Amino acid sequence: MGSYKHILLAVDFFDQNQSVADKAKDLAEKYQARLSIVHVVDTLPIADPAYEMLMPFDMDLTAEFMATAKTKLIALAKELNVDEADLRLEAGSPKQEIIRVAEEIQADLIVLGSHGRHGLALLLGSTANGVLHYAGCDVLAVRIQ
Ligand code: AMP
Repeated sequence: MGSYKHILLAVDFFDQNQSVADKAKDLAEKYQARLSIVHVVDTLPIADPAYEMLMPFDMDLTAEFMATAKTKLIALAKELNVDEADLRLEAGSPKQEIIRVAEEIQADLIVLGSHGRHGLALLLGSTANGVLHYAGCDVLAVRIQ
């Protein structure tokens, strides 16, 4: 295994993030790599006019979610000793944004959980699966039981 220089940790702030974050921190220390963290606020529509309206269609909670996510991201950065300049908070499709940020910061390893919100019944969650398929760098999917 070559030596990694810039590791990107993707967190969804779901239950099992701690073991994923610990693994990323360990690897960053082992390789003396820079560690960045990305969280993506998923902006897929909650309701679609083609289906039943679950909430007013024009209600956009992205700003509120971004604010909450920012607080959590900063707390995690302190815990992992990551510089605030190395935090990325994005809105959009998680798998696309994780891949885009990884390319932008020239990460050579993405660390994520095998499962988060979208995949408890599957071998790999949908974000993990999408990132593994399309990332241009190595991807470590930390096993979440
Ligand atoms: P999933 O495939 O959605 O079940 O999630 C698998 C892993 O992908 C999670 O454990 C996180 O590491 C990462 N992930 C999922 N959603 C996001 C998100 N919105 N922002 C950043 N990382 C995410």
